[in-house]
Amino acid sequence: MDNKLFTPGPLNTKQTVKEAMLHDMGSRDKEFISVVKEIREELLQLAGVIPEDGYDTVLMQGSGTFGVESVISTAIPKEGHLLIITNGAYGDRIVEMANVYSIKTTVLRYRENIVPPAFDTEALLKTDHSITHIAIIHCETTTGIFNDIESIGLLAHQYNKIFIVDAMSSFGAVPIDIKFLDIDFLISSSNKCIEGVPGFSFVIFKVSSLIGCQEYARSVALNLYAQWKYMRNSNSFRFTPPIQAILAFQTSIAALKEEGGIAQRSLRYQKNHQRLIEGTETLGLKTYLEKKDQGYIITSFLFPTHVNFDFVQFYEKLHMRGQVIYQGKLSDTDCFRIGNIGQLFLADIDKLIQCIDEVFKEMQITF
Ligand SMILES: *Cc1c(COP(=O)(O)O)cnc(C)c1O
Repeated sequence: MDNKLFTPGPLNTKQTVKEAMLHDMGSRDKEFISVVKEIREELLQLAGVIPEDGYDTVLMQGSGTFGVESVISTAIPKEGHLLIITNGAYGDRIVEMANVYSIKTTVLRYRENIVPPAFDTEALLKTDHSITHIAIIHCETTTGIFNDIESIGLLAHQYNKIFIVDAMSSFGAVPIDIKFLDIDFLISSSNKCIEGVPGFSFVIFKVSSLIGCQEYARSVALNLYAQWKYMRNSNSFRFTPPIQAILAFQTSIAALKEEGGIAQRSLRYQKNHQRLIEGTETLGLKTYLEKKDQGYIITSFLFPTHVNFDFVQFYEKLHMRGQVIYQGKLSDTDCFRIGNIGQLFLADIDKLIQCIDEVFKEMQITF
């Protein structure tokens, strides 16, 4: 039996998703091309948009970061000005990308336990008219906080800015109204809430927002415009696609629909999260975020203050029991993270809680 992964991804996947990969297929095969076509149609459906409304989607090889970087490096003109609203490592990663490409940026940076308030953004948009693009993370996986993309989206719309949302760890499990929020580019990947295996990311976008970007690309492999131009009608990739990951993804989308779509997956994750919070509270663990800001994807827990607590030992002892948790990523607070997405159910959460209890007893940690 594989370990249980309480991480932000890669995650535990369904047996049928793994089995879907047991094929060799040429990247120009009719069969494969029809899979890509189907996936692109399904993704738009999941996003609640249709091509007639001017939306399309492109798959991009690589992990989620490659998808984000394809947008940042393709969608912003030389004279563009990107506002990045960040409260964690993934927002900071966008800042890093913009710096590498010498894109002019303004950064609104917040502590990792703060939901960036929209009024700061509004004040900035009122005074600095040179801003052309706004980027924000939806679920900042550093902490598991849900950022207020609704308010920021409305501002982006009101002030006529291109709106870029990294919805890597939320798309597929948290309802997002792309049209209402007027999102121009939304990025997610194969191995998070859609529960596929790693290998590619995808961008759902307004065609009108990409169409002018022909000349802006700062990278060959990550040129989103070129990828779209090539894939748009051919449903094939410019460069070698991760065939098996794509086959797995087709099955994982079917499984998502079978489960009842985003609404039901959202519910399962919320129940997992609820059970995790109840269980860890009983054990005496404290969350880093305030409850009102905590999303239901992944949770950061403060290190217990007991002298016997040692994260490496704690991690190893859980690992020996088949339970894989995740290290923290906070700049100034010692935390570890527990994700509750992927093929995880209430019984898995209960088992994890029982294992943590055992490990605490073994380490003689009491609260
Ligand atoms: C997972 C994740 C990414 C991408 O990470 P990769 O390791 O490149 O897949 C980007 N942003 C967020 C918010 C994420 O959770």
